[in-house]
Amino acid sequence: MIVDAHTHLDKDGHLYPAFLKSCAEFDVQYVWCSCVGLPSYIEYPTVEEVRQANEAVRAEMRRLSGFMYGYVYVNPRLGAAALDEFKRGLDAGMHGLKLWVACRHSDPLVFPLIEYTIERKVPALLHAWRKAGGNEPGHSVPLDVAELARRYPEAKLIMAHLGGDWEHGIKAVRDTPNVLVDICMSVVEAGQVEMAVRELGHERVVFGSDGPANDLRANIGKLQGAYLSSDERRAIESGNMLRLVGGKTP
Ligand SMILES: [Zn+2]
Repeated sequence: MIVDAHTHLDKDGHLYPAFLKSCAEFDVQYVWCSCVGLPSYIEYPTVEEVRQANEAVRAEMRRLSGFMYGYVYVNPRLGAAALDEFKRGLDAGMHGLKLWVACRHSDPLVFPLIEYTIERKVPALLHAWRKAGGNEPGHSVPLDVAELARRYPEAKLIMAHLGGDWEHGIKAVRDTPNVLVDICMSVVEAGQVEMAVRELGHERVVFGSDGPANDLRANIGKLQGAYLSSDERRAIESGNMLRLVGGKTP
């Protein structure tokens, strides 16, 4: 059984049939999904745009009940309105926070949202990517995740994409035990999963695909091809994410 900790709705607000077919083929039994804007990703969404995105996730959760679970996407720059949107999403059955590139995760604008994840015992999926040419102002690098984690050691944080520049990203969060990493990215290089396990321990690595935009099968291949014990593989495939969400799924 595989749990996919990182998926997105497609342009039309659905997880489309080809993706669901791949999930069935590879025994992906649960997916955790966010929508970061419709019809395409929105970096600095308004109150209305995040609400529309999160409503689309909830509609898809109803259609795919028992299979799909939702992260609430917010723009921390919206202040109190962002926190309201987050609360509304959780009260409507969503189970986690998704932050993308509106502002850095170490920015104080993010603190009230993370404090609320702690109160509600839900995880936060945090995009991070260290770019070779430097990041845009709101685009977090892995060290932003580490800084946030040190401030809130009881928060359940998932750093997406191994931080992009993965060798750097893994090292950046090594000393912050409340940060897990998901392995999804378009870059499939030998040794990614093994290094994450070696440096962080297998309990801190979760499977994600970033599908449907990214290839679910390529990311499953990355995990299947990694040199791991069967216990380590099972933990990454499903056990760690199920533990993180505290038995939200059956
Ligand atoms: Zn993503």
